[in-house]
Amino acid sequence: MPVALDPDDIGAKIIDGKELARLIRREIRRQVRKLKFTPGLAVVQVGDDPASTVYVSNKEKDCKYVGFHSEVHQMPAEASQTAVIEQIQMLNSCKDIHGIIAQMPVPDSIDGDTIINEIAPEKDADGLTLVNLGNLLINREQTVPCTPAGIIRLIESTGVRIEGSRAVCVGRSSLVGKPVGLMLLNRNATVSYCHTRTRELSSETQQADILIAAVGRPELVTADMVKPGAVVIDVGITIAENGFVGDVDYEDVKEVAGFITPVPGGVGPMTRAMLLENTLKLALAQQEK
Ligand code: NAP
Repeated sequence: MPVALDPDDIGAKIIDGKELARLIRREIRRQVRKLKFTPGLAVVQVGDDPASTVYVSNKEKDCKYVGFHSEVHQMPAEASQTAVIEQIQMLNSCKDIHGIIAQMPVPDSIDGDTIINEIAPEKDADGLTLVNLGNLLINREQTVPCTPAGIIRLIESTGVRIEGSRAVCVGRSSLVGKPVGLMLLNRNATVSYCHTRTRELSSETQQADILIAAVGRPELVTADMVKPGAVVIDVGITIAENGFVGDVDYEDVKEVAGFITPVPGGVGPMTRAMLLENTLKLALAQQEK
């Protein structure tokens, strides 16, 4: 269900993730209305990390808008790993639930990766189980992680060709940097990764037709580090005194880049939209069985 934005409609150079996400949500709602069943998403949250609680309530709001059933399984911070695993296993066998996510972070007493990998791959709405990450690695993308999926859609909305382009990912986390690099590679970009041991960051980033900044260091990427005309995707979010700040020096870089995502209003809304899209795909696949 690709939805492309005409850059002329959204103002020069700015990739409006909020608007693209709105179009995707609306399309999902339209599709859900035609279904004879209700897709269901379950969130397992352990503890009460305030940021996680906001993310979870946003997910519930999004589900309500598109017509999904959603349930939040809030477990106390002192819940045992066994209890969390049992909860996930119960959801794995629940027919009304088609997508499951384990909200991170979990308390130190629990191993996040173990919990995530208890989710049945066919219900893995975040695409973070080893099975789904493995499928991504061998270019058989099934359910892909939400933020990388959103980034690809943002790039596609510009009309810039990924195939043959030179893409540079600053950041190599398993959640964002590494999987988005693999998705770009699967689409035939030439990909490099930068990280804390990269010797000359700017000489790498200056070569990028597509530059992904997924670091968490405010305004690390400055205008002199960007190739004129590049597509710049700013994933970073740091909470500063005057609001959210990205990894890119937005005001200066937007004078050099061909396209750029703002923070907020770029990658964040698309991450939320991709969770809905993943859940719908999983629900449809389970109905077909
Ligand atoms: P992470 O796990 O902390 O990874 C950060 C990466 O940046 C690491 O690979 C690290 O390198 C690299 N790095 C750190 N400092 C660097 C520097 N000075 N130069 C070059 N590379 C550097 O973070 P993450 O989970 O990927 O998230 C990255 C940012 O995206 C955060 O701000 C996070 O809040 C944000 N985020 C946003 C969304 C969204 O939906 N908008 C979703 C997820 C994350 P090493 O590997 O060498 O340590």
